[in-house]
Amino acid sequence: MEEGKKAGALLDVRGLRKYFELSGGQRVHAVERVSFSLESGRTLGIVGESGCGKSTLARTIIRIYEPTEGQIYFQGQEITKLSQRSLQPLRKDVQMIFQDPYASLNARMTVRDIIAEPLFAHKMVKSREEAAGLVYPMLEKVGLSREHLNRYAHEFSGGQRQRIGIARALILKPALVICDEPISALDVSIQAQIVNLLKDFQEESGCAYLFIAHDLSMVRYVSDEVGVMYLGQLVEIGEAEEIYEKPLHPYTKGLLESIPIADPKRAREKEKSSIEGDIPSPIHPPSGCRFHTRCPFRKAVCEEEQPPLKKLGNAHFCACHLYD
Ligand code: SF4
Repeated sequence: MEEGKKAGALLDVRGLRKYFELSGGQRVHAVERVSFSLESGRTLGIVGESGCGKSTLARTIIRIYEPTEGQIYFQGQEITKLSQRSLQPLRKDVQMIFQDPYASLNARMTVRDIIAEPLFAHKMVKSREEAAGLVYPMLEKVGLSREHLNRYAHEFSGGQRQRIGIARALILKPALVICDEPISALDVSIQAQIVNLLKDFQEESGCAYLFIAHDLSMVRYVSDEVGVMYLGQLVEIGEAEEIYEKPLHPYTKGLLESIPIADPKRAREKEKSSIEGDIPSPIHPPSGCRFHTRCPFRKAVCEEEQPPLKKLGNAHFCACHLYD
Protein backbone atom coordinates (compact mmCIF):
# COMPACT_ATOMS: atom_id res chain seq x y z
CA MET A 1 0.00 0.00 0.00
CA GLU A 2 3.00 2.27 -0.11
CA GLU A 3 2.81 2.70 -3.88
CA GLY A 4 1.86 6.07 -5.32
CA LYS A 5 -1.52 7.67 -5.71
CA LYS A 6 -4.18 5.45 -7.30
CA ALA A 7 -5.54 6.88 -10.56
CA GLY A 8 -9.30 7.42 -10.61
CA ALA A 9 -9.81 6.98 -6.86
CA LEU A 10 -12.31 9.29 -5.20
CA LEU A 11 -10.25 9.38 -2.02
CA ASP A 12 -6.59 8.54 -1.83
CA VAL A 13 -4.69 8.64 1.44
CA ARG A 14 -0.89 8.24 1.43
CA GLY A 15 1.29 7.78 4.50
CA LEU A 16 -1.07 9.76 6.75
CA ARG A 17 0.18 10.54 10.24
CA LYS A 18 -1.55 12.35 13.05
CA TYR A 19 0.25 13.07 16.32
CA PHE A 20 -1.12 15.11 19.19
CA GLU A 21 1.53 16.99 21.16
CA LEU A 22 1.19 16.83 24.94
CA SER A 23 2.84 18.89 27.63
CA GLY A 24 6.27 17.65 28.69
CA GLY A 25 7.31 16.84 25.13
CA GLN A 26 5.17 13.70 24.92
CA ARG A 27 3.00 12.94 21.92
CA VAL A 28 0.05 10.68 21.11
CA HIS A 29 0.82 8.59 18.02
CA ALA A 30 -2.84 8.44 16.98
CA VAL A 31 -2.51 7.63 13.26
CA GLU A 32 0.70 6.19 11.83
CA ARG A 33 1.49 6.03 8.10
CA VAL A 34 -1.99 4.99 6.89
CA SER A 35 -2.48 4.54 3.13
CA PHE A 36 -5.57 3.41 1.21
CA SER A 37 -7.79 4.29 -1.76
CA LEU A 38 -11.56 4.42 -2.03
CA GLU A 39 -13.54 4.50 -5.27
CA SER A 40 -16.98 6.00 -5.93
CA GLY A 41 -19.90 3.71 -5.15
CA ARG A 42 -17.80 1.60 -2.76
CA THR A 43 -17.72 1.24 1.01
CA LEU A 44 -14.55 0.83 3.01
CA GLY A 45 -15.21 -0.38 6.54
CA ILE A 46 -12.63 0.46 9.18
CA VAL A 47 -12.57 -1.77 12.25
CA GLY A 48 -10.50 -2.09 15.40
CA GLU A 49 -10.84 -1.83 19.17
CA SER A 50 -11.75 1.53 20.65
CA GLY A 51 -8.66 3.70 20.91
CA CYS A 52 -7.12 2.27 17.73
CA GLY A 53 -7.33 5.60 15.87
CA LYS A 54 -10.37 4.99 13.61
CA SER A 55 -12.16 8.21 14.45
CA THR A 56 -8.97 10.27 14.45
CA LEU A 57 -8.21 8.91 10.98
CA ALA A 58 -11.66 10.01 9.75
CA ARG A 59 -11.37 13.44 11.31
CA THR A 60 -7.88 13.93 9.89
CA ILE A 61 -9.01 12.98 6.40
CA ILE A 62 -11.67 15.68 6.43
CA ARG A 63 -9.28 18.14 8.09
CA ILE A 64 -11.13 18.56 11.38
CA TYR A 65 -7.65 17.66 12.65
CA GLU A 66 -4.62 18.88 10.75
CA PRO A 67 -2.46 16.02 9.42
CA THR A 68 1.05 15.78 10.86
CA GLU A 69 2.41 14.18 7.69
CA GLY A 70 1.25 12.44 4.50
CA GLN A 71 -1.08 13.33 1.64
CA ILE A 72 -4.84 13.29 1.14
CA TYR A 73 -6.25 13.46 -2.39
CA PHE A 74 -9.95 13.97 -3.00
CA GLN A 75 -11.30 13.76 -6.56
CA GLY A 76 -7.70 13.89 -7.76
CA GLN A 77 -6.87 17.12 -5.95
CA GLU A 78 -4.46 17.21 -3.04
CA ILE A 79 -6.29 18.72 -0.09
CA THR A 80 -3.71 18.08 2.64
CA LYS A 81 -2.58 21.65 2.95
CA LEU A 82 -5.50 23.59 1.46
CA SER A 83 -6.62 26.48 3.66
CA GLN A 84 -10.01 26.07 5.38
CA ARG A 85 -11.30 28.75 2.99
CA SER A 86 -10.14 26.81 -0.09
CA LEU A 87 -11.66 23.64 1.40
CA GLN A 88 -15.08 25.26 1.70
CA PRO A 89 -16.34 24.41 -1.82
CA LEU A 90 -15.32 20.77 -1.27
CA ARG A 91 -17.19 20.51 2.03
CA LYS A 92 -20.44 20.01 0.11
CA ASP A 93 -19.06 16.81 -1.41
CA VAL A 94 -17.78 15.33 1.83
CA GLN A 95 -20.24 14.85 4.65
CA MET A 96 -20.00 13.21 8.02
CA ILE A 97 -22.52 11.19 10.01
CA PHE A 98 -21.69 11.06 13.71
CA GLN A 99 -22.16 8.49 16.45
CA ASP A 100 -24.14 10.84 18.65
CA PRO A 101 -26.70 12.52 16.40
CA TYR A 102 -28.04 14.62 19.26
CA ALA A 103 -24.74 16.39 19.83
CA SER A 104 -24.52 17.29 16.14
CA LEU A 105 -28.07 18.70 15.84
CA ASN A 106 -28.83 22.25 16.90
CA ALA A 107 -31.36 22.00 19.74
CA ARG A 108 -32.89 25.41 18.93
CA MET A 109 -33.66 24.61 15.30
CA THR A 110 -36.66 22.75 13.91
CA VAL A 111 -36.13 19.61 11.84
CA ARG A 112 -37.03 21.62 8.74
CA ASP A 113 -34.25 24.14 9.41
CA ILE A 114 -31.71 21.50 10.46
CA ILE A 115 -32.08 19.68 7.14
CA ALA A 116 -32.34 22.83 5.01
CA GLU A 117 -29.43 24.69 6.61
CA PRO A 118 -26.62 23.08 4.52
CA LEU A 119 -28.57 23.86 1.32
CA PHE A 120 -28.39 27.56 2.17
CA ALA A 121 -24.82 27.35 3.47
CA HIS A 122 -23.67 25.95 0.12
CA LYS A 123 -25.93 28.26 -1.90
CA MET A 124 -27.79 25.36 -3.48
CA VAL A 125 -31.16 27.07 -2.99
CA LYS A 126 -32.34 30.67 -2.93
CA SER A 127 -35.62 30.49 -1.05
CA ARG A 128 -37.39 28.52 1.68
CA GLU A 129 -39.83 27.24 -0.94
CA GLU A 130 -37.01 25.91 -3.06
CA ALA A 131 -35.45 24.29 0.03
CA ALA A 132 -38.79 22.73 0.98
CA GLY A 133 -38.92 21.06 -2.43
CA LEU A 134 -35.74 19.16 -1.49
CA VAL A 135 -36.37 18.73 2.23
CA TYR A 136 -39.76 16.97 1.94
CA PRO A 137 -38.62 14.11 -0.31
CA MET A 138 -35.45 13.65 1.75
CA LEU A 139 -37.50 13.46 4.93
CA GLU A 140 -39.60 10.70 3.44
CA LYS A 141 -36.53 8.91 2.14
CA VAL A 142 -35.14 8.63 5.67
CA GLY A 143 -38.47 7.36 7.02
CA LEU A 144 -39.79 10.55 8.66
CA SER A 145 -42.93 12.44 7.74
CA ARG A 146 -43.98 16.06 7.21
CA GLU A 147 -45.53 16.12 10.68
CA HIS A 148 -41.99 16.06 12.06
CA LEU A 149 -40.87 19.23 10.25
CA ASN A 150 -41.72 21.76 12.93
CA ARG A 151 -40.50 19.74 15.87
CA TYR A 152 -37.17 19.93 17.71
CA ALA A 153 -34.44 17.31 18.00
CA HIS A 154 -35.08 16.57 21.70
CA GLU A 155 -38.61 15.38 20.83
CA PHE A 156 -37.23 12.40 18.89
CA SER A 157 -35.82 8.98 19.76
CA GLY A 158 -32.15 8.13 19.10
CA GLY A 159 -33.01 6.32 15.87
CA GLN A 160 -35.13 9.22 14.61
CA ARG A 161 -32.36 11.71 15.43
CA GLN A 162 -29.90 9.63 13.45
CA ARG A 163 -32.35 9.74 10.54
CA ILE A 164 -32.44 13.54 10.82
CA GLY A 165 -28.61 13.64 10.86
CA ILE A 166 -28.50 11.39 7.81
CA ALA A 167 -31.04 13.54 5.95
CA ARG A 168 -28.95 16.63 6.72
CA ALA A 169 -25.77 14.94 5.43
CA LEU A 170 -27.30 13.35 2.34
CA ILE A 171 -29.40 16.28 1.12
CA LEU A 172 -26.24 17.76 -0.38
CA LYS A 173 -25.75 14.61 -2.50
CA PRO A 174 -22.17 14.19 -1.28
CA ALA A 175 -19.63 12.09 -3.17
CA LEU A 176 -18.10 10.81 0.08
CA VAL A 177 -19.77 10.21 3.42
CA ILE A 178 -17.72 9.48 6.51
CA CYS A 179 -19.84 7.43 8.87
CA ASP A 180 -18.22 7.52 12.31
CA GLU A 181 -19.87 4.78 14.39
CA PRO A 182 -23.28 5.81 13.00
CA ILE A 183 -25.18 2.93 14.59
CA SER A 184 -23.36 2.14 17.81
CA ALA A 185 -25.63 4.33 19.98
CA LEU A 186 -28.79 2.78 18.54
CA ASP A 187 -30.93 -0.22 19.52
CA VAL A 188 -30.09 -3.37 17.59
CA SER A 189 -33.57 -3.32 16.03
CA ILE A 190 -32.92 0.17 14.61
CA GLN A 191 -29.35 -0.49 13.43
CA ALA A 192 -30.34 -2.59 10.42
CA GLN A 193 -32.89 0.03 9.32
CA ILE A 194 -30.27 2.78 9.37
CA VAL A 195 -27.70 0.68 7.54
CA ASN A 196 -30.23 -0.29 4.86
CA LEU A 197 -31.11 3.37 4.46
CA LEU A 198 -27.45 4.17 3.81
CA LYS A 199 -27.15 1.29 1.35
CA ASP A 200 -30.24 2.45 -0.59
CA PHE A 201 -28.85 5.95 -0.83
CA GLN A 202 -25.52 4.64 -2.10
CA GLU A 203 -27.24 2.60 -4.79
CA GLU A 204 -29.18 5.63 -5.91
CA SER A 205 -26.41 8.24 -5.77
CA GLY A 206 -23.18 6.29 -6.28
CA CYS A 207 -21.53 7.90 -3.26
CA ALA A 208 -18.70 6.24 -1.34
CA TYR A 209 -18.72 5.51 2.40
CA LEU A 210 -15.88 5.32 4.86
CA PHE A 211 -17.73 3.31 7.49
CA ILE A 212 -16.18 3.23 10.94
CA ALA A 213 -17.62 0.78 13.43
CA HIS A 214 -16.71 -1.83 15.99
CA ASP A 215 -19.62 -4.12 15.12
CA LEU A 216 -17.78 -6.53 12.82
CA SER A 217 -20.93 -8.26 11.57
CA MET A 218 -22.46 -4.96 10.49
CA VAL A 219 -19.22 -3.86 8.83
CA ARG A 220 -19.18 -7.06 6.82
CA TYR A 221 -22.76 -6.44 5.73
CA VAL A 222 -22.12 -2.89 4.47
CA SER A 223 -18.53 -3.02 3.20
CA ASP A 224 -16.92 -3.86 -0.11
CA GLU A 225 -13.48 -3.57 1.47
CA VAL A 226 -12.36 -3.68 5.07
CA GLY A 227 -9.33 -2.13 6.77
CA VAL A 228 -8.23 -3.31 10.21
CA MET A 229 -6.53 -0.77 12.47
CA TYR A 230 -4.39 -1.46 15.50
CA LEU A 231 -2.86 1.30 17.59
CA GLY A 232 -2.99 3.86 14.78
CA GLN A 233 -1.77 1.57 12.01
CA LEU A 234 -3.56 -0.24 9.22
CA VAL A 235 -2.46 -3.85 9.73
CA GLU A 236 -4.63 -5.52 7.09
CA ILE A 237 -6.84 -4.35 4.25
CA GLY A 238 -8.63 -6.12 1.42
CA GLU A 239 -11.98 -7.18 -0.06
CA ALA A 240 -14.49 -7.71 2.75
CA GLU A 241 -15.21 -11.35 1.89
CA GLU A 242 -11.53 -12.21 1.85
CA ILE A 243 -10.80 -10.45 5.14
CA TYR A 244 -13.65 -12.28 6.86
CA GLU A 245 -13.10 -15.68 5.23
CA LYS A 246 -9.29 -15.75 5.04
CA PRO A 247 -7.88 -13.27 7.56
CA LEU A 248 -4.08 -13.20 7.66
CA HIS A 249 -3.07 -10.91 10.51
CA PRO A 250 -3.19 -12.41 14.02
CA TYR A 251 -5.02 -9.30 15.24
CA THR A 252 -7.71 -9.61 12.56
CA LYS A 253 -8.10 -13.29 13.41
CA GLY A 254 -8.48 -12.39 17.09
CA LEU A 255 -11.09 -9.71 16.32
CA LEU A 256 -13.10 -12.13 14.20
CA GLU A 257 -12.88 -14.76 16.92
CA SER A 258 -14.47 -12.29 19.31
CA ILE A 259 -17.68 -11.93 17.27
CA PRO A 260 -20.38 -13.28 19.60
CA ILE A 261 -21.95 -16.56 18.54
CA ALA A 262 -25.06 -18.28 19.83
CA ASP A 263 -23.72 -21.85 20.24
CA PRO A 264 -22.26 -22.04 23.83
CA LYS A 265 -19.82 -24.87 22.94
CA ARG A 266 -18.37 -22.99 19.96
CA ALA A 267 -18.40 -19.77 22.00
CA ARG A 268 -16.17 -21.45 24.67
CA GLU A 269 -13.76 -22.68 21.99
CA LYS A 270 -13.61 -19.19 20.52
CA GLU A 271 -12.91 -17.58 23.88
CA LYS A 272 -9.60 -19.42 24.07
CA SER A 273 -8.27 -17.76 20.96
CA SER A 274 -9.56 -14.19 21.34
CA ILE A 275 -7.05 -11.38 21.94
CA GLU A 276 -5.68 -11.07 25.45
CA GLY A 277 -4.56 -7.95 27.30
CA ASP A 278 -5.29 -4.29 26.77
CA ILE A 279 -4.35 -2.07 23.88
CA PRO A 280 -1.06 -0.31 24.84
CA SER A 281 -0.85 3.47 25.21
CA PRO A 282 -0.48 5.38 21.93
CA ILE A 283 1.90 7.71 23.82
CA HIS A 284 4.47 4.92 24.11
CA PRO A 285 3.57 2.45 21.34
CA PRO A 286 5.56 -0.82 21.44
CA SER A 287 8.67 -1.07 19.27
CA GLY A 288 8.66 -3.13 16.07
CA CYS A 289 5.22 -4.60 15.41
CA ARG A 290 2.87 -2.68 17.69
CA PHE A 291 0.84 -5.83 18.26
CA HIS A 292 3.78 -7.87 19.57
CA THR A 293 2.87 -7.39 23.26
CA ARG A 294 -0.39 -9.30 22.68
CA CYS A 295 0.47 -11.56 19.79
CA PRO A 296 0.65 -15.33 20.46
CA PHE A 297 2.81 -15.81 17.32
CA ARG A 298 5.49 -13.15 17.99
CA LYS A 299 9.09 -13.89 17.00
CA ALA A 300 12.29 -12.08 17.97
CA VAL A 301 12.14 -9.87 14.88
CA CYS A 302 8.65 -8.66 15.82
CA GLU A 303 10.00 -6.63 18.75
CA GLU A 304 12.59 -4.90 16.61
CA GLU A 305 11.28 -4.39 13.10
CA GLN A 306 8.00 -2.90 12.05
CA PRO A 307 6.49 -5.16 9.37
CA PRO A 308 5.53 -3.27 6.19
CA LEU A 309 2.04 -3.59 4.69
CA LYS A 310 2.72 -6.15 1.95
CA LYS A 311 0.55 -7.41 -0.87
CA LEU A 312 -0.25 -11.05 -0.12
CA GLY A 313 -3.17 -11.71 -2.42
CA ASN A 314 -5.38 -10.03 -4.95
CA ALA A 315 -5.80 -6.56 -3.38
CA HIS A 316 -5.14 -8.13 0.04
CA PHE A 317 -2.45 -6.42 2.13
CA CYS A 318 -1.13 -7.44 5.53
CA ALA A 319 1.62 -6.20 7.85
CA CYS A 320 3.04 -9.21 9.70
CA HIS A 321 6.44 -10.93 9.91
CA LEU A 322 4.74 -14.33 9.65
CA TYR A 323 4.59 -13.68 5.89
CA ASP A 324 8.16 -12.41 5.40
FE1 SF4 B 1 2.47 -11.13 15.61
FE2 SF4 B 1 4.93 -10.67 14.74
FE3 SF4 B 1 2.91 -10.67 13.04
FE4 SF4 B 1 3.19 -8.71 14.80
S1 SF4 B 1 4.57 -9.20 13.13
S2 SF4 B 1 1.32 -9.76 14.30
S3 SF4 B 1 3.98 -9.83 16.57
S4 SF4 B 1 3.67 -12.41 14.23
